[in-house]
Amino acid sequence: MMRISQIEAIERLLRGEVVAIPTETVYGLAADARNDLAVAKIYATKERPANNPLIVHIGRIEQVTDWASTFPPLAQKLAAAFWPGPLTLVLPAREEVSMAVRAGEPTVALRIPAHPVALALLNESGLGLAAPSANKYTQLSPTTAAHVEAGLGANIPVLDGGACQVGIESTIVSVHVDTWMLLRPGMIDAAAIAAIAGKPAKALAETDLPKVPGQHLLHYSPRTPCMLFCSTHAMRDYAQQHPNSASLLFSADLTLTAQEIHLPAEPALAAEQLYAALHTLDAAQAETILIESPPATAAWDALRDRLQRAAYQAHAAK
Ligand code: AMP
Ligand code: MG
Repeated sequence: MMRISQIEAIERLLRGEVVAIPTETVYGLAADARNDLAVAKIYATKERPANNPLIVHIGRIEQVTDWASTFPPLAQKLAAAFWPGPLTLVLPAREEVSMAVRAGEPTVALRIPAHPVALALLNESGLGLAAPSANKYTQLSPTTAAHVEAGLGANIPVLDGGACQVGIESTIVSVHVDTWMLLRPGMIDAAAIAAIAGKPAKALAETDLPKVPGQHLLHYSPRTPCMLFCSTHAMRDYAQQHPNSASLLFSADLTLTAQEIHLPAEPALAAEQLYAALHTLDAAQAETILIESPPATAAWDALRDRLQRAAYQAHAAK
């Protein structure tokens, strides 16, 4: 693995190269968001369609207006409450923000990450860093440096900051003047945002989403087909008929297959361990990964979203 120091990471970023960096959500593949050639390397490395916008990571709240043409009071309240942290704010973009970063959208997505290594890198370099997850498009997100190497190869320089503590991608909220909409669920949930905003989310209309929301259903997928089960009985039947399956379980007392991982019954802990568990099960050479649905409550919305996407391929093939 090509582990690099913070100084080398900054040098490479200033030269227009890509570097994998730790954040509290997942590892990001970072590049200088003002440098279109550098941003193009992100898309090329990830094999991500160029019409899929990127989140710009910044180190200080004062930098918001370097990127956004307006910073409405509602967005300021959310930033004050949740930054640094796993919340991305989508705001009207300043005209000069590169189309490569925002993929032709009139908006820009911004976040201050809550990871000491990422924050130090951002503040030492002063850069805004475009940094989508450091994996190939549609595949599992990395939550360790080893996952980055497994997904992108040994030639990707990695700033190793240990295992990610939130473990799934940020909540994305777009703010229009004095209303907000939830574009992607994450560990900062809608109720926490509504409490700070003083109002519930506005319902999403089709036209509110970016042209390519980048969150199509086939996302966050292991290579092994996944099946999501609402019924443990059906899951047990399937496991008996397909003994070469592996399983990801939430019920502590349930045991189904030779290779299985139980996630904790607490959403934040389960999120922290989710992708590592899927990476492990994906390497188990099973025919199918059987996934037990998490509890049907709001606290599990973000995990349920990722698991539904992980299972989408197998579901579509049925
Ligand atoms: P990630 O997959 O974590 O890199 O997050 C990228 C996602 O953020 C995109 O797929 C979009 O859904 C959202 N996003 C990024 N930039 C914008 C933007 N300018 N306008 C709206 N949504 C955006
Ligand atoms: Mg991603």
